[in-house]
Amino acid sequence: MKTFSYRDRESTLDSLENRQYDVVIVGGGITGVGIALDCVTRGLKTILIEMQDFAAGTSSRSTKLVHGGLRYLKQFEVGMVAEVGKEREVVYRNAPHVTHPEWMLLPIYKKGTFGKYSTSVGLKVYDFLAGVKKKERRKMLNRNQTLQREPLLRGKGLMGSGYYVEYRTDDARLTIEVAKKAAELGADLINYAKAESFTYDSNGKVNGLYFQDVLTGAKHCLKGERVVNATGPWVESVIDLDCKIEGKSLFHSKGVHIVIDSSKFPLRQAVYFDTPDRRMVFAIPRNGKTYIGTTDTEYKGDLQHPTATEKDRRYLLECIHFMFPDVQVGLGDIESTWAGVRPLIRQEGKGPSEISRKDEVWTSATGLITIAGGKLTGYRKMAETVTDLLCKQLSAEGVHCKGSVTKELRLSGGDFHDPENYYRFVQEESRNLEKLGVSLEDATSIAAQYGTNSRVIAGLIDRVQPLSPLPLSIKLILQYAIEYELVMTPVDFFMRRTGTVFFDMEWVHKWKEDITIYMAECMGWNVEDRINYKKALEESIRESVESN
Ligand SMILES: Cc1cc2nc3c(=O)[nH]c(=O)nc-3n(C[C@H](O)[C@H](O)[C@H](O)COP(=O)(O)OP(=O)(O)OC[C@H]3O[C@@H](n4cnc5c(N)ncnc54)[C@H](O)[C@@H]3O)c2cc1C
Repeated sequence: MKTFSYRDRESTLDSLENRQYDVVIVGGGITGVGIALDCVTRGLKTILIEMQDFAAGTSSRSTKLVHGGLRYLKQFEVGMVAEVGKEREVVYRNAPHVTHPEWMLLPIYKKGTFGKYSTSVGLKVYDFLAGVKKKERRKMLNRNQTLQREPLLRGKGLMGSGYYVEYRTDDARLTIEVAKKAAELGADLINYAKAESFTYDSNGKVNGLYFQDVLTGAKHCLKGERVVNATGPWVESVIDLDCKIEGKSLFHSKGVHIVIDSSKFPLRQAVYFDTPDRRMVFAIPRNGKTYIGTTDTEYKGDLQHPTATEKDRRYLLECIHFMFPDVQVGLGDIESTWAGVRPLIRQEGKGPSEISRKDEVWTSATGLITIAGGKLTGYRKMAETVTDLLCKQLSAEGVHCKGSVTKELRLSGGDFHDPENYYRFVQEESRNLEKLGVSLEDATSIAAQYGTNSRVIAGLIDRVQPLSPLPLSIKLILQYAIEYELVMTPVDFFMRRTGTVFFDMEWVHKWKEDITIYMAECMGWNVEDRINYKKALEESIRESVESN
């Protein structure tokens, strides 16, 4: 049976020459994998290539919220709030293991961005537009209630707060779960495969591409009826491989987050707050850490390696000191950081924070379809729009396309009839994993993070390497990542399958050696591969820890 592993990657690469696809997608962030899933469920022969690992671009570097975009209400983007707000419920229903409701405080200060009345009305409109369910509708809190929820908030000038629900996610895992579902349903998805040039038919229409296997250097050709460019911040560089589209361009804006241990910043409650320069940032507690972000500044650097500068770090520390004056943290307390590049559609005369986060579909004269802009939260709807367009074009050429089903389609690991069943499942399944010898804490974390796939993980008990000194819980998730999540390098595992480079650097340092050895033995790396992959991991750790 086909799984989603390095072995399948190889056999897919070997069989490409004889295949003709309906749709070729370039870019394996949330936008590309979303399109792959929608296309394959419509019955289209689909392939996706990604030049790094899945989600290695912006889709592992966001604020990690599946949210309705309250901030866009301030800019009167009513349609966007309504659509994205409704989509977050769809994401939650289809993947409760990677989407968790998180109550958020929006403190109200004298002379702050929002007054009491405007917050109350704004949140109510938000509830209405986003179709928020009853138990998650906003509450207004007075000053005392607010300080009870979060005692670290600045007391001076505090008048109360709005209290409303956002959904916390793991952006990279969400992307992987979508990719896995697409693969399960028959799409081919290859990471470390870079599109280098397009091929054209006799009428000048794009009908495929050449790409390079970044891991081996081998070149391959792909043939497809349609080609989609879903490369986020890179969409213009991929358009440049084809032909320019007049009047369309991107604006790159960098957003940085910093992570501080909760012993230094013991935030109890997620807060969305005003900054001294009248922007808004999030502070969110997560597994013993607090993360804060984001910045929003024009970016012209290396798209593959955006990093947090000392200026970015100082800015976010200033924001903490402004809103949480008793928290004494400095540069040395920042444990890790991440920086992402927003692929915004340029709007002349507007600064980074003012530009709309909407998405657009551009079609070039050669037929290349580009999807630009957008948000993680709205990925499914964006995918539906692009696939509708593809189906319209392909149906005219006799290709049969079914209707979209992704609104109701459970993502990999999200096979719950009702998302509320998830919590009971985690309890039951963690007991099963415990019986195999996994500690209750680790068992709960596996069941919570992998949802219904934790049963597959438990089934790997006889396949893990008995002689490895790694704890059983790590062997199981690593074996799963190797056999079912197309992990190719240690960086993939630490950054995008577990997120530990961002949230648990101690764990990374403790296990990086043994995990690399385990992967090398399983995947048959030679000494050179092993050295190179170790180096790449050290470089990723350095990027996350040090400032440039
Ligand atoms: C700081 C920050 C915070 C954010 N917070 C949120 C949030 O909380 N909630 C939310 O909904 N949205 C948020 N967003 C927006 C969201 O993260 C992005 O809209 C989304 O991740 C973009 O996904 P994408 O797939 O379009 O791009 P990417 O994830 O960047 O994927 C594009 C992929 O294309 C690949 N690629 C490029 N060129 C080639 C090529 N030649 N061949 C093959 N592959 C190629 C790249 O390697 C990359 O992986 C945030 C963004 C930022 C920067």
